[in-house]
Amino acid sequence: MERTSCCIAGGGPAGMMLGLLLARAGVEVTVLEKHGDFLRDFRGDTVHPSTLRLLDELGLGEAFARLPFAKLREMRAQIGDTTVVMGDMRHLPGRHKYLAMVPQWDFLDLLARAAAEEPHFTLRMHTKVTGLRTTDGRVTGVRFVDEHGTPGELAAALTVACDGRDSMVRAAAGLRQQQFEVPMDVWQVRVDAPPSRGTPLPTTSRAAGSSHGSAAARPRSPWTAARISRRPISSGRAGTPSCAATTSSGCGTGSAPCSTGTTG
Ligand SMILES: Cc1cc2nc3c(=O)[nH]c(=O)nc-3n(C[C@H](O)[C@H](O)[C@H](O)COP(=O)(O)OP(=O)(O)OC[C@H]3O[C@@H](n4cnc5c(N)ncnc54)[C@H](O)[C@@H]3O)c2cc1C
Repeated sequence: MERTSCCIAGGGPAGMMLGLLLARAGVEVTVLEKHGDFLRDFRGDTVHPSTLRLLDELGLGEAFARLPFAKLREMRAQIGDTTVVMGDMRHLPGRHKYLAMVPQWDFLDLLARAAAEEPHFTLRMHTKVTGLRTTDGRVTGVRFVDEHGTPGELAAALTVACDGRDSMVRAAAGLRQQQFEVPMDVWQVRVDAPPSRGTPLPTTSRAAGSSHGSAAARPRSPWTAARISRRPISSGRAGTPSCAATTSSGCGTGSAPCSTGTTG
């Protein structure tokens, strides 16, 4: 039977950061991640100033600065004939007065490299947690299958569910999920860009808005576009958005024109 002090199910931002912090504190920790890499679609691009400050405090600021990323200092939206500054990061306290636009997989790779330097840290990719071990009604680790489909068990004094919003570990532990209503939905879609428009890095954000919602697009390869739609807080679920699509001249929600956010 394999053993560790802390077993973390899921190597997303929560699991990787927790694993790094525990390992640095001298706790033996194993992170189990079901995918073989961090290269996943539909994940965050923005790393916020407060997170950048945390990275500085962890001594990871210089490594982060070496990643290829764009700085978003201001966001603007055009609503009808009016251009509205929705956010101006230059007024923020601290060193980092911008959003860093960096794919989440680069960020997770950075955390994985930092954690790999810790002798108490183990990351097991391609390892899917399939259930919990229990002893006398207490959770004592996890069951998993490895990349060859071979089942195994990992005993742990502490098991942490970091396996995302539909956490299997949370459900298996019988923990009830608490949901908080939010006043809007963001529908994010991927749009294939013509090769001439595709860029490997996000450099510019475009946004357009109306009283019904707004859309934003970031040129990557391929582009991503998000539609933000308002919904009544009591409605539970929003209706399906009509469309959110990028064009070669920008993004569109019907006839709304696009404006370009400031990057630096
Ligand atoms: C479309 C979209 C855009 C976003 N944009 C941004 C943004 O710009 N900026 C920002 O800060 N946030 C953004 N977010 C939110 C951000 O992605 C999440 O807050 C963050 O990823 C949550 O981290 P997590 O570690 O809790 O969960 P997750 O990122 O979901 O990570 C869970 C991990 O657990 C793994 N896993 C799942 N089940 C198992 C299992 N059974 N066994 C082993 N491993 C398992 C998964 O493969 C995954 O790696 C966005 C989210 C989405 C969906």
